[in-house]
Amino acid sequence: MGERSSMSDADLESKLQPRLAEVESRIRAACERARRSRDEVTLVAVTKTVSSEVAACLANLGVRDLGENRPQELWRKAESVANVRWHMIGHLQRNKIERTLPLVTLTHSVDSLRLLRAIDEFGKTKSQRFPVLLEMNASGESSKGGFAPTDVPELSAVLPALQFVEVRGLMTMAAFQEPEACRPTFALLRSLLESFRSAGIATMRELSMGMSNDFEIAIEEGATLIRLGTVLFEGIES
Ligand SMILES: *Cc1c(COP(=O)(O)O)cnc(C)c1O
Repeated sequence: MGERSSMSDADLESKLQPRLAEVESRIRAACERARRSRDEVTLVAVTKTVSSEVAACLANLGVRDLGENRPQELWRKAESVANVRWHMIGHLQRNKIERTLPLVTLTHSVDSLRLLRAIDEFGKTKSQRFPVLLEMNASGESSKGGFAPTDVPELSAVLPALQFVEVRGLMTMAAFQEPEACRPTFALLRSLLESFRSAGIATMRELSMGMSNDFEIAIEEGATLIRLGTVLFEGIES
């Protein structure tokens, strides 16, 4: 993933622009099917497989929300890509909180109470509330991280005490399978969000769900943030 590209900026743009247009029309169609407004869904472009140069090109085409799943890669790209909002979407180790959180608009992947508490501690030192989503294992696969659906009551009891964390909602990853088969996972995430809200966690509104394979189903089930990599960048040389 070198920064030097064999492609000119114009070449890159001419490759990315039609991809983006295609994705955009699929997002719109899914919103229409679900009778939702296009504004309710934020496209987060996951740039982990491409260079900063490609990321910057997409930003110039109007995609201002970019995601990375590795802190070091996020730090690196955040230095060279201007005017974007970074989303941390992968596992965050506690020793990387301090350097990562100030760079990001939202951390999607808070997957343990220990991490939540560590973010709260960091927020306290900064007198700042940091926005996060809780990653839920809604697909039931043992290989996936995140909280279990059965953790909701305990989490609901703990969250109000964490004054420096603003929990904005939930994130999940569906199993890789036929897209329609992902629908129950997304429906479960939405119902878990409702459970938190019923338990009084009123700051929770966002559902980060849907990747290249299944984003249209996720939108139909209420996604407010979709995280797309492959469908935008496959075959684009960085
Ligand atoms: C890589 C990644 C994505 C994007 O996946 P694609 O299938 O390439 O669209 C979304 N979310 C997370 C957490 C990822 O690591």
